[in-house]
Amino acid sequence: MSGMEGRLAAIRERIAAACSRAGRDSGEVELLAVSKTFPVDAIREAFDVGQRLFAESRQQEAASKIPALPEEIEWHFIGPLQRNKARKVLADFACVHSVDSLKLATHLDRISGEESRRTRVYLEVNIAGEPSKAGFTPEELLATVGQVGELPHLEPIGLMVIPPATDDEGEARHWFSEARKLRDRAETAGGLRLPGLSMGMSGDFEAAILEGATIVRVGSALFGERKYPV
Ligand SMILES: *Cc1c(COP(=O)(O)O)cnc(C)c1O
Repeated sequence: MSGMEGRLAAIRERIAAACSRAGRDSGEVELLAVSKTFPVDAIREAFDVGQRLFAESRQQEAASKIPALPEEIEWHFIGPLQRNKARKVLADFACVHSVDSLKLATHLDRISGEESRRTRVYLEVNIAGEPSKAGFTPEELLATVGQVGELPHLEPIGLMVIPPATDDEGEARHWFSEARKLRDRAETAGGLRLPGLSMGMSGDFEAAILEGATIVRVGSALFGERKYPV
């Protein structure tokens, strides 16, 4: 077994164990491999041992890698999205996890319409109210989610959160649980279904699964330490 194959298997086992602890079916949680900063060769290695969902956080970096990789890969965009990059992002990515305002949602809807597509999106929420982080505030989300739901060319799937990094499982679970409760309130407020919860990274994906994550975004646990921050 290669290093990549072993790491992927170990992560899949940890996902399955967390699902079983939570009384959930392991098929309910998808693994999104976050390949930002890692080269095409590493991504192909993960593809060759069965990984199909990958995420990038910068449009330019992604555009330099995606054409060299198999078309069977489904790409998700998880980084800050500038409006002038939206058309290029939609050309390469099936799904956007970082829709952080009604304004951006409206812009993506318009471009999606022009490109004759419907784009799956997660609404990013700044769940702990951190000044350094992007996202709807919980109040903004509740006030505008109905309008997002009416945009004809977007398919809102759920919420995405990046809570404060912590070694404390209880604290991590607190924020993930807040995200799930906010999702439930947003469904009522907006009159739409938001089944997805994009939450959990290398350091906290088990806590996220215990609180209902449906897709976990794992980078360094699969590819190794990043050489430079993003
Ligand atoms: C980089 C990144 C991740 C993955 O982080 P790891 O700690 O390496 O697993 C997940 N989500 C987002 C939004 C990221 O930018």
